[in-house]
Amino acid sequence: MGDGHVVDLKAFSEVQLAAFFKTLKEPAFRAKQFLLRVYTKKAVSIDDITEFSLPLREHLKGISFISSLQTVKRLESTDGTRKYLFALTDGQTVESVLIEDDERLTLCVSSQVGCAMGCRFCLTATGGFKRNLKAHEICDQILSVSRDIEPERKITNIVLMGMGEPLSNYEEVTHALKIMTGWLNISKRRITLSTAGLVPELERLYSDGFRVNPAISLNATTDDLRSIIMPVNRKYNLKTLLSACRRLPIPERRRITFEYVLLKGVNDSPDDAVRLVKLLKGIRAKVNLIPFNEFDGANYKRPSDAAVLEFQEIVAQGHISVFIRKSKGRDILAACGQLKAGY
Ligand code: SAH
Repeated sequence: MGDGHVVDLKAFSEVQLAAFFKTLKEPAFRAKQFLLRVYTKKAVSIDDITEFSLPLREHLKGISFISSLQTVKRLESTDGTRKYLFALTDGQTVESVLIEDDERLTLCVSSQVGCAMGCRFCLTATGGFKRNLKAHEICDQILSVSRDIEPERKITNIVLMGMGEPLSNYEEVTHALKIMTGWLNISKRRITLSTAGLVPELERLYSDGFRVNPAISLNATTDDLRSIIMPVNRKYNLKTLLSACRRLPIPERRRITFEYVLLKGVNDSPDDAVRLVKLLKGIRAKVNLIPFNEFDGANYKRPSDAAVLEFQEIVAQGHISVFIRKSKGRDILAACGQLKAGY
């Protein structure tokens, strides 16, 4: 055809694909055959869809294509963490981080190009918001990295903790979750979605049945401070956020993760630790302390190891499981809050 109406087959949902094949007088099950090839057999071109007849493949090649991410850069940290810079079809770029931990292989994926949340301590925020990722662009990060690791290894866990606020891209993120738990066969127990605290969308996620592990970026114990470092708090304050957490239908043996970035002299005092324990009372919570990861131009400092340990000790005494997140990949700016994708 070559009349400019070349469509990206990957951008279609299953329903849209079925409709597309119908216009070609092909049966609806072509959609399933296509998705199976793309998501489980790693097809990257129409020629790879060997279930389709040769004439159908030739016809499709004239009117459509299968997009994939281009790997622009791949950095490997001394601790084995890998950071990927991917280009999307419109030239925008996003980053993904692969973290190795014993037998676990966790991929941290981005949900937006940039971020609109404006958290003061986060490097991603400094570039502003560019656009939402489509569901297939979120899942393509998994496919691209899968192709890059040893064939016998498999990505075991997904964390939506890369660039962007996943819950402000609700439709595409939930579509991506369906692809992950469906075609990619990743258990919802191995998927964690982290949010800065968009309360209505968080509640909607669970009422819509997406029972992935929730992680909340808390980062402060008073509304005054939280509103300064995380502007989203002016809309949904601590009380609103934490009462929503109390109501979330979390399965019996699961917990809500609270991330707490420790900023020297800002939110790392023993009083903060005591307040944190009080705030989390009645919530099945687990706390991940993340000592601030520094970057050029940052306004904050990382607390001393002693201060971090003291904070942890106080929280632990409040009978809350509390871990210090070993920041991986700091030497390649791949740690929490260090993703910016060079735009
Ligand atoms: N927007 C979502 C997803 C991003 S997760 C959210 O806010 O949860 C990124 C995590 O890294 C958040 O918990 C954030 O608090 C943390 N973070 C951001 N900047 C950081 C930095 N410079 N050092 C350490 N952690 C940081």
